[in-house]
Amino acid sequence: MSAAETFPAVDPATREPFAEVVEMTVEQVDAVVRAARDAQRSSREWRFPVTRAAALLRLARLIERDGEQLADLECRDTGKPLAQARADVAVTVRYLEFYAGACDKLEGRSIPLGPDVVDYTVREPWGVCAQIIPWNYPLQMITRVAAPALAGGNAVVVKPSELASQTPLRWAALAVEAGIPEGMVGVATGHGAVGAALVDHPDVAHVTFVGSAATGSRVAHACAERLVPVELELGGKSPNVVFADADLDRVVPAVVKALIQNAGQSCSAGSRLLVHRDVHNEVVARVGRAFADLRVGPGAEDPDLGPVVAQQQLDRATRMLDTARAEGATVAVGGGAPAGREDGWYLDATLVTGVTPAMELFREEVFGPVLAATPFADDDEAVALANDSPYGLVAGVWTRDLSRAHRVAGALQVGQVFVNSYGVAGGVEIPFGGMKRSGYGRGKGMDAMYAYTQVKNVCVAL
Ligand code: NAD
Repeated sequence: MSAAETFPAVDPATREPFAEVVEMTVEQVDAVVRAARDAQRSSREWRFPVTRAAALLRLARLIERDGEQLADLECRDTGKPLAQARADVAVTVRYLEFYAGACDKLEGRSIPLGPDVVDYTVREPWGVCAQIIPWNYPLQMITRVAAPALAGGNAVVVKPSELASQTPLRWAALAVEAGIPEGMVGVATGHGAVGAALVDHPDVAHVTFVGSAATGSRVAHACAERLVPVELELGGKSPNVVFADADLDRVVPAVVKALIQNAGQSCSAGSRLLVHRDVHNEVVARVGRAFADLRVGPGAEDPDLGPVVAQQQLDRATRMLDTARAEGATVAVGGGAPAGREDGWYLDATLVTGVTPAMELFREEVFGPVLAATPFADDDEAVALANDSPYGLVAGVWTRDLSRAHRVAGALQVGQVFVNSYGVAGGVEIPFGGMKRSGYGRGKGMDAMYAYTQVKNVCVAL
């Protein structure tokens, strides 16, 4: 492949290309990693937490300064509604502020071994962290992985998705403007082979992968070959579990938002709806009406629901709906393209009822605006259905009974449980990650600071 080879960035609302992205060669990936390694090793200033904190805060201010441009670019590259892109900018700023504040909070321990010994621990950076991210939240995602790694004293090389590279490239340029040393933030653009070359690079000491379980497994194998640690943040098939005593006026809008945000293309999308049979028909009818009332359109018009990111996502959702019908489920609302929107990759918010655990739609991620509804008879069945999934990322529990809420939260095999809500704005401060096929390791909050540093013990005989 020649050094000058490029591919187009495409607007999902029009299917029109609007920019060119470089498909990096192995040699170019090597140069980016070496630059990161050299910057991390040679910058004495970068070893001071206050230096890193100040740089991350300056980057936060630059992201704010360019917020509207970044939101427009994100909207164009991913198809997401403008209000969601603006919210992503705000969350990005919050990540940078949080991790700027965390730089000087990585304290060690003193371990008592007796009067003749001083023993203490320090947390040290890995060196160069390779960070492979998906296309659904490129701006938030580069910040979520790069900010704590930089705060911990590492250099990063980020590999954005081939479907959405624009805001990560801008982020890296702004990082230099913020005074982060040249080379400390590298971006390697291109398709999967570029990610594979990055993971295989001998100077990469730590890998984070955010994406599908299938690719995550390949990346984990490659990391095992090199004995390099890897954080895996993978997919989900997350349930909202609605008990009969829940406040349905709160349930319905939250269930709708948990699905349609980012057109269902969130790892944490609430894509299963488990409802007690006493309120099942009412909940399903109200969610269905809310779906039918959604405004669907290009992200720039700030609709409730934008297009999905690419033809392959639309094809996947359509194929999975065909399978659901063939397996005996009912497509109660949606299922097709909204009228007059054939120009982009649109799918109406879709509610499928009568979905049973044996069906593909119950088990596999669609990554589109498709909600699978299933009734349950009692608490035990609710927990059994919620856990009957290869994934274990997030769950929402809806009940007014505090004891039930805690019991169910304790029994769910997921990394994050929300009671009487589904998600908090940004969730920057709280640990995030999965169980089972949703991956391992935890990002966000202080947990990410621990992931991006390693413990050294120093034992001094007096
Ligand atoms: P994907 O696995 O296809 O791609 C993710 C990234 O991996 C891309 O940058 C891609 O170019 C790269 N890649 C592909 N092959 C590679 C290889 N062999 N080696 C190294 N890198 C390679 O995922 P996607 O379609 O971009 O994203 C959707 C998936 O991401 C969904 O499953 C979703 O649930 C998941 N996701 C998870 C989280 C989370 O935090 N848990 C967040 C967002 C998305």
